[in-house]
Amino acid sequence: HGDSGDFDREVASVCPYCGVGCQVSFKIKDERIVRVDGANGPANENRLCVKGRFGFDYVAHPHRLTVPLIRRDDAPAKGLNVDPANPWTHFRQATWDEALDAAAGGLAGLRQAHGGASVAGFGSAKCSNEEAYLFQKLIRQGFGHNNVDHCTRLCHASSVAALMENVGSGAVTATFNEIENADIAIVIGANPVENHPVAATYFKQFAKRGGELVVMDPRGQGLKRHATHMLQFRPGTDVALLNAIMHVIVEEGLHDRQYVDGFTEGFDAFAAHIRDFAPEKMAELCGIDADTIRTVARKFAGARAGMIFWGMGISQHIHGTDNSRCLISLALLCGHVGRPGTGLHPLRGQNNVQGASDAGLIPMFLPDYQSVSNVQVRDMFAGIWGGPQVDPRPGLTVVEIIDAIDRGEIRGMYILGENPAMSDPDVDHARAALARLDHMVVQDIFLTETANYADVILPASAWPEKTGTVTNTNRQVQMGRPALTAPGQAREDWAITVALARRLGLDWTYDHPREVFAEMKASMKSLDNITWERLEAEDAVTYPCPAPDRPGAAVVFGDGFPREGGRAKLTPAQVTPPAEVPDADYPMILITGRVLEHWHTGSMTRRSGVLDAVEPQAFCTLHPRTLRAKGLQPGDLVRLTTRRGSVEVAVRADRAVSEDTVFLPFAFVESAANVLTNPQLDPFGKIPEFKFAAARVEPVAGS
Ligand code: SF4
Repeated sequence: HGDSGDFDREVASVCPYCGVGCQVSFKIKDERIVRVDGANGPANENRLCVKGRFGFDYVAHPHRLTVPLIRRDDAPAKGLNVDPANPWTHFRQATWDEALDAAAGGLAGLRQAHGGASVAGFGSAKCSNEEAYLFQKLIRQGFGHNNVDHCTRLCHASSVAALMENVGSGAVTATFNEIENADIAIVIGANPVENHPVAATYFKQFAKRGGELVVMDPRGQGLKRHATHMLQFRPGTDVALLNAIMHVIVEEGLHDRQYVDGFTEGFDAFAAHIRDFAPEKMAELCGIDADTIRTVARKFAGARAGMIFWGMGISQHIHGTDNSRCLISLALLCGHVGRPGTGLHPLRGQNNVQGASDAGLIPMFLPDYQSVSNVQVRDMFAGIWGGPQVDPRPGLTVVEIIDAIDRGEIRGMYILGENPAMSDPDVDHARAALARLDHMVVQDIFLTETANYADVILPASAWPEKTGTVTNTNRQVQMGRPALTAPGQAREDWAITVALARRLGLDWTYDHPREVFAEMKASMKSLDNITWERLEAEDAVTYPCPAPDRPGAAVVFGDGFPREGGRAKLTPAQVTPPAEVPDADYPMILITGRVLEHWHTGSMTRRSGVLDAVEPQAFCTLHPRTLRAKGLQPGDLVRLTTRRGSVEVAVRADRAVSEDTVFLPFAFVESAANVLTNPQLDPFGKIPEFKFAAARVEPVAGS
């Protein structure tokens, strides 16, 4: 639509939604964002999806929190019962001083009475790197333990666990744009057309120019029609399918012997392990015929350059780490790592889940994945932070923290920009736990479902109102600039965390995020040669970066891996069934996920006019034959029930789901998918099994 001059100014920044990290140009008129255009960032080259282009008016929504709030003494019992448009029966307006005193006083009181480990923190993958760094520092330095986590635990924690174990680094080995140089690409357990739409445009272009696109997913999806091979395998059988593919590669001697000898360890044991996984034996379990498995194996192994992309369909299982181990082994066997057009790429979800993880917002790692159990690492941080020593014990993860509330071990929480009252598995249980906390501080831009349970609510800034860096799925650190000032008394998150830290007795003197970034560089080698000034000038720099005047590396590990001996590891994976399987009472499989227009728990996109108009209501999808068998019409109400609970929701017909499966998006509070999901955890990544639950689907009488 060109520069028609219908705006006062424009500000270069980054999209606030997904991990693709599209650069945007906010167009401002009369102190409102009136338009968003794609800018020429390294990940998007001027492209945007519907969320980036139209999902900006949430920042001006009347529900924005503009004043600090304190729970009233005569408030009703805590529950999901606050009207965000009228919170005054539950909360009263407070001054910032009063609210910060109450927030810090409550947490400090618990620290005094029950020890620092009685307080936990959930930071945010939607805030900046500097804010994530400060948040984990506040919990570690202020409360003396590592009970700090964020939503990576609910998305790619298992992928990171497998990558750390086998490759020595948790980030992608190649940018998604490298697909331009590939001959074949596998996209498995990911639905980029809806969840990483701009990345999907590169995948479609790749297929258009003749690249072999192999899509593996229990649901059909938008990439299906661009795929040369679509393997719609049975939910939960990823390890069996991938082991069968690798069986063919090793059995037929198609693996890259030179690469395996030079860059990996554990081949003999691995080869012996996958001997049992002949495609002919696995075909029935996976629902994919042996010939297809053999064809895909030969093509991937025989290609000059291949990439593997994956998403939550791989990671959100109790065998999520095993799923990722298989993908890593598959790439290593074929030598598809470390060269242009090759690589392993877990498509990261939130705009800054990569950066928040890098910044140490996880209970077992300090910034740059440096283990809390390593004494040299702890000494280094004690030196940089001016003490005290960090606790050597890994802290509790997201779901473990909720369980620790049940046991009375966690009594207080500081929650910044996360919404566990919507996003946690078995969410009725999580909500009951949050209601039991003695003291909860929530810092957010809206009165989220989680804020319903807060004692103090601190009004924060939306992404277009703040200064800070974010890191996308491609390891590109990008500069976010403020387009607007925050409404009312709302403040930038980093400034709120600093004010809270000072009231908790910490000697913090930061005046600007650039000072935080400078401190991060002292402990994070990943930021070598990347400075605030450089990001201001160049907008984005990829890490690792070899020199102050050179670009960062799109592809890494061409000359070995950051593990002892420089070799990656081939780790065998066993087939583990899902934590619960369909039976007579719960005969169907429930899969949860996202839709194009809505982002996660819906707090932003359901308050975006265009996005909410396109997709205003909750729905689930069933195969048309399943609908017919149950005597249902599209639009009818159905009741979905699992061992955790029930929700009622309108049904749509969709051939993409198989006949024994129901798909339910999780953005809608009125039929919250996580009422149904199974909280069982992957033992390594501690990620819940959002992608598989045994369920019952029944018509609602009279609907
Ligand atoms: Fe934003 Fe992701 Fe869409 Fe890009 S692809 S515009 S980063 S939501």
